Amino acid sequence: MNRTLSAFAVCGLLLTALCGCRNNIDISDNTAFTRDLFAMDTFMSVRAYGKNASAALNSSEKLISSLEKELSVTLPESDISRINSSGEPVRVSGNTAAIIDAAVRYGSLTDGALDITLYPVLRAWGFTTGEYRIPDSHELSELLEKVDYRQIQSEDSTVSVPENVMIDLGALAKGYTSDAVAQIMREKGVSSGLINLGGNVQTVGTKPDGSLWRVAVRNPYSPDTDMCVVEIADKAVITSGTYERYFTGEDGKNYWHILDPSTGCPADNGVVSATIIGESGIMCDALSTALFVAGTEKAVSYWQSGNEDFDMILVTNDRRMICTDGISDAFSSSCSMPVEVIHRA
Ligand code: AMP
Ligand code: MG
Repeated sequence: MNRTLSAFAVCGLLLTALCGCRNNIDISDNTAFTRDLFAMDTFMSVRAYGKNASAALNSSEKLISSLEKELSVTLPESDISRINSSGEPVRVSGNTAAIIDAAVRYGSLTDGALDITLYPVLRAWGFTTGEYRIPDSHELSELLEKVDYRQIQSEDSTVSVPENVMIDLGALAKGYTSDAVAQIMREKGVSSGLINLGGNVQTVGTKPDGSLWRVAVRNPYSPDTDMCVVEIADKAVITSGTYERYFTGEDGKNYWHILDPSTGCPADNGVVSATIIGESGIMCDALSTALFVAGTEKAVSYWQSGNEDFDMILVTNDRRMICTDGISDAFSSSCSMPVEVIHRA
């Protein structure tokens, strides 16, 4: 816990340093207001500038708390818990329905690399409780029989899954949340904002001085240090990495929380971190997880197919960075890994 708190403090300091923010008594367009909170099992920090900032932060905090109540897989009254326990069609909020529909869509676009019905398998590994263990292959194949996002029925905000199928939105809920917070900020007239949900960053406008936000991305091989900085405006930068949640087994191997639905084991297809940069937080979050799982070659061809407008930075298990050409000019490396810039045909 202490480690997490100090990581949070360092993260706050780092963003402060990068953004050059300070609090003033006169509320000018440059005055920064920051709200730190813990929700969705994540330390969050939301910052907005100017005279509308304080009201925007109050609304953002309320929104995050109500989204958590709808989306949590552990709170018994949440939409997700009701879907997982009922066996009957469940009426859900518009937010829950929108995330589930997006999850099914990205499941299909990525050939099932993103599969929100993996929850029972994640539970078997202990990723939901912290009581880690390595399930044997028999247990995994039994659990995998129930895993398939195509079993989810969703229509008009009513969702049902077959008995013993369970869902969890951990792979994309934070991206949806940062989109929703960014939307509130814009509606409240905030033109500079920075939303940091546990290292997943979404920005509103530019910095108050008109310059681009500088967002640091961690080095998966040395998570206390940065690998690069990207300069953006009105975009999200969302990373999935092996280092975010993992345990070391008795066999000395590391097992991380992003699973390959085809095996039920931690995805190990050549990517150790996938950073997605784009205008939609939920797209970036869904793809960060899915392309991490898909692996280097499939991630590159997904991007090259032009299905969606985004940029990405992959770090491979042979210590290379692969960076798409749309971000290469706005990217500065701060590590020694070689960078390969890729292009669409
Ligand atoms: P992220 O940090 O966005 O990559 O999300 C990781 C979280 O998504 C994990 O902690 C699990 O709750 C869940 N998850 C893991 N693997 C998958 C997967 N292949 N598809 C959907 N959700 C997953
Ligand atoms: Mg994700």
